[in-house]
Amino acid sequence: METQFEKILKVHSANPAKRARFIKFNKHKMQPHDRRAHLCIRCNRAEGHIKIHGLNYCRQCFREVAPDLGFKKYGKEA
Ligand SMILES: [Zn+2]
Repeated sequence: METQFEKILKVHSANPAKRARFIKFNKHKMQPHDRRAHLCIRCNRAEGHIKIHGLNYCRQCFREVAPDLGFKKYGKEA
């Protein structure tokens, strides 16, 4: 099944300039949204992914392994 953007692209196929401009401004909308592109390396959860510093943990696993990795909490302790 073709997406709405593919339909619009077909309409613009007669005019290359219009087509190029449509692609330029709608590129990110045409890319597939894969929520499961990044998975936690510990529990394979897709939500709450922490990619920074190459951690690749979900937020729940990060909470558990952060002290072992050397992360410390500063400031007011609850
Ligand atoms: Zn996890």
